Amino acid sequence: MFKKLLVANRGTIAIRIIRACRELGIPTVAVYSTADKDALHVRMADESVCIGPPAAENSYLNIPSILSAATTFGADAVHPGYGFLSENGDFAEACQRSGLTFVGPRARHIRLMGDKPRARRIMTRAGVPVLPGSEGKGVTELRDALADGKRLRFPVLIKAAAGGGGKGMRVVRDANELSKMFPIAQGESEAAFGSRTMYLEKYLERARHVEFQIVADSHRDVIHLGERDCSIQRRHQKVIEESPCPVLNERLRQKMGKAAVRAAEVVGYSNVGTVEFLLAPNHEFYFIEMNTRIQVEHGVTEMVTGIDLVKESIRLATGEPLRIKQKQVKFDGAAMEFRIYAEDPDRHLPSPGLVTHHHAAGGLGVRVETALYDGYRVPVHYDPLVAKLIVHGATRKEALARARAALREYQIDGIKTNIPLHLKILHDPDFIRGEFATDFLNRYEKSAPAPEAAALKAS
Ligand code: ADP
Repeated sequence: MFKKLLVANRGTIAIRIIRACRELGIPTVAVYSTADKDALHVRMADESVCIGPPAAENSYLNIPSILSAATTFGADAVHPGYGFLSENGDFAEACQRSGLTFVGPRARHIRLMGDKPRARRIMTRAGVPVLPGSEGKGVTELRDALADGKRLRFPVLIKAAAGGGGKGMRVVRDANELSKMFPIAQGESEAAFGSRTMYLEKYLERARHVEFQIVADSHRDVIHLGERDCSIQRRHQKVIEESPCPVLNERLRQKMGKAAVRAAEVVGYSNVGTVEFLLAPNHEFYFIEMNTRIQVEHGVTEMVTGIDLVKESIRLATGEPLRIKQKQVKFDGAAMEFRIYAEDPDRHLPSPGLVTHHHAAGGLGVRVETALYDGYRVPVHYDPLVAKLIVHGATRKEALARARAALREYQIDGIKTNIPLHLKILHDPDFIRGEFATDFLNRYEKSAPAPEAAALKAS
């Protein structure tokens, strides 16, 4: 087992990793920016070190600073969590070169899946279904995009080849819209990923987002831990996730699970990962991407399988083989996660600031992952996700009731959050029936700003 692990992250996931390490008996080193000197992850870790100023480029994304912290403190492993450097192949490689184990897949798998057109090509060859889209390496010229749009038949989705976090994504319904939106999406992609390469994909109406959790060892053994339905989204970003998916029957679960395992197998993937699919109303499904890291919503799968995915990611990084076979994976009840954002729901703006009072919900089947505490100041510099409320029940109905009770109990004073929106959703008849697709939240977004304004906010 590792001697010491450096947590290259902040917030809820940094705390989650520190807890897992504590159970495994691994001492931890936290890194922090000057904006985070009072953050909970810093207090919880065994040791901590400041790695730079607030701007993420100079701290949580600063590879030399993080590597030098790891070496100075005698760490032999680095856990990247999600966001920041978690899907940066150069970082994974730099860790290995410095003699550190990167807790995650190999650099080449991160790079491969980070190149979406390439991932699509590999999946097509492996017999994993993908949606019709741009061929080859993607498109950089409007002319080619227009030809693709015509061939695919509108509506289509413009996506960034290096995409993530919904950046550079635009649904377009005709050639005019495509001409207008293509340069905007390209500009957004350039700002976020330094790349103007885009690709088009047929836009699937009324689709559900259904993803499979994969666990793979470095001896080519791969299993899946079932699915998560992440269709409740705002601007293509997840807000609520649940397992099992309310519309999946056992036959379809097995078929999609097999495709997900195959996706990981063909590339020789190791560690935890997620294969994302879109599920059409007719139950056809299509690969959209693979995330090569632990995900925000991993807790949902942990609650229904009883498997600690963060501990698993650490064990697998040591080279340990998988301890269970596919048949031994047992699913119990239903779980749901509600992402709690520090945001002003009326103005669709982040709401950082001083938390004057924090009372996390509790009780049987209620789990809260948060870095908040009384008197904590939510910094303006980072992602506004401040807490995750996860509930588990014997049935989906019980999980829904528990979620309503827990979200009513949860108190965060001083900053605004989206808890009221979650409560509204929990009383929506379609949500209660499990009848929804990725466009569900549009009904609550009447006064939403134009996507351009939203993109400005996100960047
Ligand atoms: P990112 O990596 O930027 O998050 P994804 O490819 O994972 O982008 O897609 C994010 C979301 O966008 C999906 O969950 C889904 O709601 C929507 N989406 C992506 N591709 C399509 C498509 N071809 N048709 C319809 N919706 C899509």
